[in-house]
Amino acid sequence: MGLDLLIKDGTLVTPDGLVEANLLVEDGRIVGRVSHRETLPGIVDPHVHFEGPNSIDTYRSGTEAAALGGVTSVVNFAWQAWEGSDTPWSGAGTLREAVDRQREAAASSLVDVALHGTITRERPEVLDELEGLVEDGVVSFKVFTTYDFGLRNGFIERIFEKLSELDAVAVLHTEDDDVCTAREDEMRRSGRGDPVSYPESRPTHAEAMAADDAVRLALQSGVKYYGIHTSCAEAADVIEAAQTDNSRIRGETCVHYTTLTEAAHADQGNLPMIAPPLRSEADVDSIFEHLRGGTLDVVSTDHVAYKSDSKQVENWWDGEYGANSVQRSLPVFHDEAVLKRGLSYPALVRLMSTNPARIFGLTNKGTLEVGTDADIVVFDPNATWTVTSEDNASKADFSIYEGRELTGRVERTYLRGTCIAADGETTVQPGYGRAITRERPDWDAF
Ligand SMILES: [Zn+2]
Repeated sequence: MGLDLLIKDGTLVTPDGLVEANLLVEDGRIVGRVSHRETLPGIVDPHVHFEGPNSIDTYRSGTEAAALGGVTSVVNFAWQAWEGSDTPWSGAGTLREAVDRQREAAASSLVDVALHGTITRERPEVLDELEGLVEDGVVSFKVFTTYDFGLRNGFIERIFEKLSELDAVAVLHTEDDDVCTAREDEMRRSGRGDPVSYPESRPTHAEAMAADDAVRLALQSGVKYYGIHTSCAEAADVIEAAQTDNSRIRGETCVHYTTLTEAAHADQGNLPMIAPPLRSEADVDSIFEHLRGGTLDVVSTDHVAYKSDSKQVENWWDGEYGANSVQRSLPVFHDEAVLKRGLSYPALVRLMSTNPARIFGLTNKGTLEVGTDADIVVFDPNATWTVTSEDNASKADFSIYEGRELTGRVERTYLRGTCIAADGETTVQPGYGRAITRERPDWDAF
C-alpha cells in the first residue's frame, strides 16, 4: 500500500487530549497514527455567508479565505426568497430552489461545503418541503426573529414542531424585533448615526428576550435548538437555564464576541458593525465562562464580506452589516483563548472542529480519528505575525483584526489528504471542495 501523506512528529490535538504521533493518510482518509508541530483537525465553521443576499464573497473567494485560515468545512445558508426591499430573489421561490441554487454555485469551492436552509416567509407550504430536504442532506434550518425576513413566534412554533418530528436542527438568530426597531427609529429621529451609538440600537436584553421565547418554544416541541452568535451574558444565561438533563438546547458564539468589545467602534467606525453588536468587556468574560462551562459549544465566524466603503457611511443605519474573518478565526481565537486566557488546545479543537461537526451531522469531519477524512491543519503555535487585510482572499478589503499582533499561524491546510493551502497561498483549483451530504445528527451521543 502506498501512503499519500505522512505528517511526522506531530502533536495531534484531539478533542480528548494531546497525542505525540505521526499521522498516516491514504486515499484522503486517516489510516493510522504512529508515535512534532501542532496538528489539528481542519476547522469546521458552521456559520459563514457566501454567495448570499448579505455578502459579496463568492464560494470561490470565501473558500479561498477558509483554506488559508485552516478551515476545511463550512456550512453556508440557502435563503428562501422573500418579499421586501432587500431581497435578490423576490417572488414565489421555494426553499428547494434556494438549495439547488446554492449547490450549483458551490461547485467552485476549495473546501467542503454543506448548507443550512433559511426560512424567510410564513408560508405553510415551506413546512411540506422540509422532509424532502432533510432526506437530501439538509438537516438544519435557520430562522430569524428580526428584520424583513424575520418570523413571528406562532410560525416558529410550527417550524419547531415539524423539525422535531423530522429530528432536524433549528438554528436561531434571536433579537427582539420590536425593541430593536423602536430604538433604531428613535436614533434616526434624534440623529444618532455615529458608529459608537450603534450597539445601543440592539441591546443585550433584546437578544435575551427573543432567545427566551425561542428556547421555550424549543423545549415545548423537543426540537434540537442551536442559538447562533450568542453575544452576551444575558442571552447565554437564557440558554444555560434551559440546559436541563433531557433538553436539547445548544449555543454558539463567534470569534469577534470573544476578542472585541463595542469600544472597537471608536477606532474602526462602522467596520465592526454586526448584529448582534459587539458588547462590553464583562460580556466577553461571560462568554468565556460559558465556553468553559459548556453552555456554548461552538466558536464560529458569521463571516460576511463587504467593501469598507459600503460600511463606512455617515449614519450607521445606511451601512452594511457583517464582518469577514474566516481567514483569521483560528489564529485570532488561538491567540486570545489559548495564549491569553489559558483555554486548552483540546478545548479549542472541540469548539472549532469536533462540536460543530457533531452538532450538524458532518460525520467524517472534525477529528483525527482513524477512518475519518484527512482534514488537517498544521499550525505553528510559536510564529508571530501581524494581521493585515492586504492578504485577504475575501472580497472584503478590511479586517476587524487589522494590526493585531498574533502568536500562532496556519502553515498548511489539508483537505481529504490533499494540501489546499501552504504558507499563505492556496494550492488547489476551485472545485476541489465537495458538497457534504449530512446525516441527521445524534445529539444524545455526546
Ligand atoms: Zn450569520
